[in-house]
Amino acid sequence: MARYRGAVCRLCRREGVKLFLKGDRCYTEKCAIDRRGFSPGQHGRNQRKGKVSGYGLQLREKQKVKRIYGVLESQFRITFRRAERQKGITGANLLSLLERRLDNVVYRLGFATSRPQARQLVRHGHVSIGSRKMNIPSYTVREGDTISIRPRSTKIPTLIQAVESLQTRGGVPGWLTLDTETLRGTVLSTPKREDVRDLVEEQLIVELYSK
Ligand code: SF4
Repeated sequence: MARYRGAVCRLCRREGVKLFLKGDRCYTEKCAIDRRGFSPGQHGRNQRKGKVSGYGLQLREKQKVKRIYGVLESQFRITFRRAERQKGITGANLLSLLERRLDNVVYRLGFATSRPQARQLVRHGHVSIGSRKMNIPSYTVREGDTISIRPRSTKIPTLIQAVESLQTRGGVPGWLTLDTETLRGTVLSTPKREDVRDLVEEQLIVELYSK
């Protein structure tokens, strides 16, 4: 399945939650979920939620998390298997691995207003890990890694605006720190379950893959 590139607000309305795909707009009253939470399409307004089965709920939750982080099925499955092999609770491990994706970290540090925009920054070679350019959005950062904007890229207008509006998106989470002068972030610790800000019921995904 190709990555979805259509009208992104429809995805949030489909899932019934904010997936934060549209940058700062997601944090204003212009957000389509805040304005009209019903499903998209001609019949969305009148659609009754109906009884969704356990399997249906599990599937929807997986779809939601994939969309939040912009991960395709194959990669999501690989990440889940990795989470399973780690010590601790699989669901929490999964979210921690997703949070540590480089594109998510670039978003959390405030260099971009959404994860799709962050992915673009990484892909276009504007980001370094330590002193090395890193253009793989799925790269998993580790404790102690420094993530910075390459010197020739620090003047990109969307990046400057994103850093300026970071507080409207809740600021930098506690497991990261940011030097706004040098645009250099550091991973202080591995993110824990409580560091994940989005409303996710990861246990449903674990149940789905355990069938
Ligand atoms: Fe659109 Fe963002 Fe609101 Fe989702 S959270 S409906 S992408 S404005």
